Amino acid sequence: MATRLHIDGEWTEGGGGAIATHDPATAEVIEEVTSASRSDVDAAVAAARRALGNPEWAGMLPVQRAALLFKIADLIDQHHDELATLETRDQGQPIGISRQVSATGAAEHFRYYAGWVTKIQGTTNPISFPDTLHYTRREPIGVNALVTPWNFPLMILAWKLAPALATGNTVVIKPSEVTPLTSIRLVELVEQAGVPKGVVNLVTGDGSVGAMLSSHPDVDHISYTGSTATGKLITKASAESNLKRLTLELGGKAPSVIAADADIDTAVGGNLAGSTLNTGQVCAAYTRFYVDKRREQEFVDKMAAGLDGLRIGPGLDESTQLGPLVSEKHLGHVDRLVSVGREQGAEVVTGGHRADGAGYFYSPTLFTGVDDNMTIMHEEIFGPVLAVTSYSDDDELAALIARANDTEYGLAATVWTRDIKTAHRLSAGIKAGAVFVNMPPIPDMAAPWGGYKASGWGREMGPWAIDAYTETKSVWMHYGY
Ligand code: NAD
Repeated sequence: MATRLHIDGEWTEGGGGAIATHDPATAEVIEEVTSASRSDVDAAVAAARRALGNPEWAGMLPVQRAALLFKIADLIDQHHDELATLETRDQGQPIGISRQVSATGAAEHFRYYAGWVTKIQGTTNPISFPDTLHYTRREPIGVNALVTPWNFPLMILAWKLAPALATGNTVVIKPSEVTPLTSIRLVELVEQAGVPKGVVNLVTGDGSVGAMLSSHPDVDHISYTGSTATGKLITKASAESNLKRLTLELGGKAPSVIAADADIDTAVGGNLAGSTLNTGQVCAAYTRFYVDKRREQEFVDKMAAGLDGLRIGPGLDESTQLGPLVSEKHLGHVDRLVSVGREQGAEVVTGGHRADGAGYFYSPTLFTGVDDNMTIMHEEIFGPVLAVTSYSDDDELAALIARANDTEYGLAATVWTRDIKTAHRLSAGIKAGAVFVNMPPIPDMAAPWGGYKASGWGREMGPWAIDAYTETKSVWMHYGY
């Protein structure tokens, strides 16, 4: 039997058929996942609209709503191993990542935003009107569609759902059709925690279900994480329907600058983690390496040795360091871009082919002899594929910054140096939502997350997510009559 949709507190079969979800380590089908039809999507949006007016939800006191979010966090903790194992089976990520980043991270997001519920404040403002009090209220936006990708399905859903509920919104969740299982399980736990019916709805299915939400006239806000191409379609659909609010977390092509004074072993360790975490399927993954010419050979040799030493295998094997790519389709995308790199003259130092196994394994790949204009320096590969180029000592910092910025994206960047001047100048000059100095790209719920340029609109996490899920109402109170 296929999985179910969750609409208005009921688990129902979708009217749009079903899509199989696969274990990327074995290519075997795990489960059939029901697909929503247009009338299912309409019913989910209508349920979310009704729930906004339900006194059980709208009238829930901040302390009660905080308690509800703490309870969801506790339930995630109680099901920690089950959720981590399910994430690894559906997504492929090594079990240690599923435990520490996905399951623990999801609980932490709920706990963090549970703390915010009782601290969401308006302001009183010194307007220049006589006998008039002016204050602001933070109100929920309304019905929010949460559309998520396949690389960190559980954690990314948590980082959207927790602030959406903290601010009193209602939601319709649309997980990726490639990895829907932990999202379905999280909705069951949310229901178990006692969230009133209709507040959290779930519609599974492919991009066409997401498109029904982005063009829906009764959805007020879409919080979307995924590719830039789909982000543009969502923006167009929003403009052509009801101009719904958009929070867009899109693609990336993060540069990594390794200065002459960097501790190379630290840089190699951090860049290996930053480029191969979750098999490189990370929006902030380090992919374009600009190494000071004097350290280039040493860096390339040590990175290649590090990549060769990674243990490739199924995520459920505790010793695995590099799991499979998420799907056959995505493996084809990565392999095609590696071929393009070769055709354009870049040199493969290691990797460059599918790895052994029935699943979607790919050998970690390092290119040298790379030119700034090559496709592999511009297109998002979203796999364990690294391209190394160099800069010369007498290159001005400004020229290096211009090369790092030579991309449509602007999500993340990293700098490896012991010189505070280089660190600050590059951090200020690179156009990216996050610059990591001497560390891998790990987000934290207290720090803003989002991109410049084609990497998206708006910021999530921290107080920035409270802004993303609220409207600010201006109240003018004249008392001089
Ligand atoms: P994707 O764009 O293929 O799909 C993402 C979601 O959008 C899925 O749920 C999909 O079903 C849905 N969708 C597809 N077409 C749609 C449409 N026309 N309208 C509405 N929804 C639609 O992305 P993906 O391949 O699942 O994820 C990988 C991408 O996500 C990469 O580009 C990566 O950089 C990006 N990403 C960004 C961040 C970030 O924080 N910026 C984080 C993780 C992933």
